[in-house]
Amino acid sequence: MARVELHDIRKSFGKVEVIHGIDLTIEDGEFCVFVGPSGCGKSTLLRIISGLEEQTSGRIEIDGRDVGNLEPVERDIAMVFQSYALYPHLTVGENIGFGLSLARKPKAEIAEAVNRVAETLQLGHLLDRRPKELSGGQRQRVAIGRAIVRDPKVFLFDEPLSNLDAALRSQMRIELTDLHAQLGSTMIYVTHDQVEAMTMADKIVVLKDGAIEQVGTPMELYDKPATPFVAGFIGSPK
Ligand code: ADP
Ligand code: MG
Repeated sequence: MARVELHDIRKSFGKVEVIHGIDLTIEDGEFCVFVGPSGCGKSTLLRIISGLEEQTSGRIEIDGRDVGNLEPVERDIAMVFQSYALYPHLTVGENIGFGLSLARKPKAEIAEAVNRVAETLQLGHLLDRRPKELSGGQRQRVAIGRAIVRDPKVFLFDEPLSNLDAALRSQMRIELTDLHAQLGSTMIYVTHDQVEAMTMADKIVVLKDGAIEQVGTPMELYDKPATPFVAGFIGSPK
């Protein structure tokens, strides 16, 4: 179970408020996409949920528990960024297992988990390679593998496909959707790409200037955009 609730989340940098009171519930197992133009606050909101950034005010609950006092690792959340941030000197297998090694899990347990994840992501034949020997898509899969191996309650993705070329992006969209179906975890996925939002989301949250413009399923937003901004962004004919 991992239901994520945001209650009146605000964030200021210095005197400038960039997140203006966000109220939102993401249901257990939901694939929720935050979409909106550059600078609207998507990454800041994701970092606040992960605990990497502290909100100025407001409350976050995961499964009804206030996580305000929990460090990022204690929140049982994994984050995948657009830059892969792999360790260049470690193999694919070592990169995937890194978090478990840090947690001093037994070697056999790490190997078992790494193999299982590599199987899921079709990386089994690449476990002994180094990141520089991989394609962009393979690197991104390793980054996702590093997140999955810890079996987190919630996955956060910040524009994970934006560095990939168009063909690979569409392939990875399908793979991520399959992965979500397979794991059933709650996923919060940030993008400025409407195609990703419309094809992957159970629920889309359209953000504009640090506030929610509309929340709904892809069909709801397409059929009944609440504002011209949403219509324009989603590509609705209205
Ligand atoms: P997005 O991910 O949607 O492109 P961000 O969350 O990165 O947007 O940024 C939202 C706003 O907050 C922007 O105006 C940005 O300049 C500002 N901002 C983000 N991080 C910082 C920071 N560390 N210091 C000051 N301003 C920031
Ligand atoms: Mg961003």
